Amino acid sequence: MVSTSVAEVKCSKCNNIYETNVVDHIDLSEDREIIKALKAGKANRVQCPKCKKVMYLKRSIVVNFEPENRIVVFDPSARNNASKETLIQDYNSVISFNETLSEIGEEMEFIVISKLDRLKSLLEEYLKQYK
Ligand SMILES: [Zn+2]
Repeated sequence: MVSTSVAEVKCSKCNNIYETNVVDHIDLSEDREIIKALKAGKANRVQCPKCKKVMYLKRSIVVNFEPENRIVVFDPSARNNASKETLIQDYNSVISFNETLSEIGEEMEFIVISKLDRLKSLLEEYLKQYK
């Protein structure tokens, strides 16, 4: 299931601030219909209720490549190694506090991606393998 949360967004056209649902987490084995938007970098499409301006948010999304043991954090703003390191450390500290997760976590491949092209090729590989 796609997990969403509520975020505050400021419209780039009319500066209206509104709350909207944003995608946080995608499980590829269940959420096939969002892959196309994800590949285009448009998974988080929001629309201003006031002026109808559509924006695509550059938020990080966690993508679970089920049934592969791979978790990808797609974060367009994680441009440098320091911010990638922080994400990986966050992940490691989360799993070390949770017994079930730390068992799974050891077998998990955890990758941080900031470039859409890289995410795209991973998704295409995945689709070839799991039709
Ligand atoms: Zn607006």
